[in-house]
Amino acid sequence: MNAAQIFDLTGRVALVTGASSGLGARFAQVLAANGASVALVARRLERIQQLQQRIGPRAVAIEGDVTDRASMKRAFDAAEKAFGIVDLLVNNAGVAHANRAIDLTEADWRRVLDTNLDAVFFCAQEASRRMLAANKPGAIVNIASVLGFGVAKGVAAYSVAKAGVIQMTKALALELAFKGIRVNALAPGWFDTEINHDYLAGPHGATLKREVPVGRFGADGDLDGPLLLLASQAGSYITGATIVVDGGQMVALRG
Ligand code: NAD
Repeated sequence: MNAAQIFDLTGRVALVTGASSGLGARFAQVLAANGASVALVARRLERIQQLQQRIGPRAVAIEGDVTDRASMKRAFDAAEKAFGIVDLLVNNAGVAHANRAIDLTEADWRRVLDTNLDAVFFCAQEASRRMLAANKPGAIVNIASVLGFGVAKGVAAYSVAKAGVIQMTKALALELAFKGIRVNALAPGWFDTEINHDYLAGPHGATLKREVPVGRFGADGDLDGPLLLLASQAGSYITGATIVVDGGQMVALRG
């Protein structure tokens, strides 16, 4: 098989959470460009409607909040109605915080864990239940972070949630492999998006960039290949894995 064939997603139905900006918007475009039909799910309907127009009839914009189980059931229903059973979930929606642990409020802790961990689990559960009921194989790609492996100051809740996503990825992979549902994760390093733009553009940005061995933050396109690998036939024997995409950040020694 040639590369175009093994990465081809024709006939696949994807659902991308948090598709209204950043990595999620890019993921949706890449999946559609490689043949998938894509349900764009986010709270900001206007944004995903604009993205839908850019992608065309292979995409549908569906309002949904990942922390609201009923709203996500409705989103899966709407995706099914548009394209059929979702067999590729990209669990991408996420939020950040920037408070030292001793200052972190319970509300902030819960907001981050709710979105970045609980919702990832329940969206994966919803997607896999539907795939199992339809006897359809598929793939789930969770968006973790290098902060699921290492830690930094000011992001305790975020790091705990992302570490949970990596462990959850293994647990779900183990339970779902027998039915042909693969569960994997991507762990990006720094990408300049809405979630961290102010931080990366601020005084810490230059220092952080110096710590990345390739000398730059991640950019559009750096996650395309890894995503397609986990989503497509090319990754048919990969499950329970977390692929780190960080320009070497995690292997660099801190000076
Ligand atoms: P982003 O802020 O542009 O995207 C996150 C998206 O999730 C936003 O569109 C936001 O509206 C959406 N979202 C948040 N809560 C939601 C909810 N309750 N329901 C539905 N949508 C919701 O930032 P991004 O960098 O594109 O983040 C995408 C994912 O990548 C996140 O999980 C993030 O943790 C992860 N990540 C980002 C980086 C980075 O450096 N940018 C690094 C590692 C991991």
